[in-house]
Amino acid sequence: MPQKIALVGIGKIARDQHIPAIQASPDWQLAATVSRHGTVGGIQAFDDFAAMLDARPDIGVVSLCMPPVPRFDYASAAIEAGRHVMLEKPPGATLSECHALEAMAREAGVSIYATWHSREAAMVSTAKAWLVGKRLTSLVVTWKEDVRKWHPGQSWIWQAGGLGVFDPGINALSIVTEILADPIHLTSSELLIPENCETPIAAHMAFAHPHGARVTADFDFRQQGDQFWNIAIETDQGHLVLSDGGAKLVIDGHAQSTATDGNPLQGEYPRLYANMARLVRDGAIDMDLSPMAHVADAFLLGRRVTVEPFFE
Ligand code: NAP
Repeated sequence: MPQKIALVGIGKIARDQHIPAIQASPDWQLAATVSRHGTVGGIQAFDDFAAMLDARPDIGVVSLCMPPVPRFDYASAAIEAGRHVMLEKPPGATLSECHALEAMAREAGVSIYATWHSREAAMVSTAKAWLVGKRLTSLVVTWKEDVRKWHPGQSWIWQAGGLGVFDPGINALSIVTEILADPIHLTSSELLIPENCETPIAAHMAFAHPHGARVTADFDFRQQGDQFWNIAIETDQGHLVLSDGGAKLVIDGHAQSTATDGNPLQGEYPRLYANMARLVRDGAIDMDLSPMAHVADAFLLGRRVTVEPFFE
């Protein structure tokens, strides 16, 4: 029997990924939407979250797809109303508010899920399995995309809390923290901030690794032409390149493939919704904040460099 879910914040990612994933899933029934502007044909639409919570006590789960800054107020209201909560990445605007949400969910006995969609990309688990028992010598993240192409009109990205280039960059960090056996920590970062923006358009990060591997990440929103979402890893027993955000994997020069290519229940978002169904069934919480901790560290330790203004 599918569970009723409400989708909140009907924007780009809700339309591109959440709605198709929910509609393809045997676990879920899209029962309502909440958005100030967006609606979904045939689904009851609210433009006020409190009104939806009051009117639809039969909806036990909410999935929050708005940008990070407003998310805490919605998540805390949902938990107070006894609903399970699924959070788009990043799970909030600050680490402290995410810790608070987790504590509130535990107290209320509801599930909360900080989703990291890139961890569900097709080849991430294969890369993680290959790394087991190997000694890491270097890991280089190159995440370079054209912001005008991928984030048109998203002014929130340039405002405090919108993360700038860390909005996609945190996806790379979610993969890195998933596949590495050992924890890393930031040792330096440089944040390139356009003079008319509050968040970085590019960033460089370097990390310490417990066995001395060289670990770096370069994020850039100014990329023209070819786009890069790559993680290149060298070990004592060979090398791998994860590309296209984790969708492709080459190990020692040989392209790897999955048996699930083309299965509509196997994409990143279908897997997130399957995970959420399991968490609710098990009464569990998944609130891993490690990708966000590295971003917070980059803002703490980052050397700010002012660069030319950005105009969309
Ligand atoms: P978006 O289209 O700009 O925003 C999504 C929706 O959030 C908007 O349509 C808006 O709906 C609502 N919203 C915006 N500001 C709000 C506010 N202050 N209070 C309440 N609701 C507000 O952004 P998006 O690309 O979907 O991204 C949303 C989240 O998904 C971000 O955290 C992003 O990192 C994540 N994400 C995005 C992508 C992507 O490719 N775009 C991929 C993966 C994850 P209404 O105005 O109708 O209320």
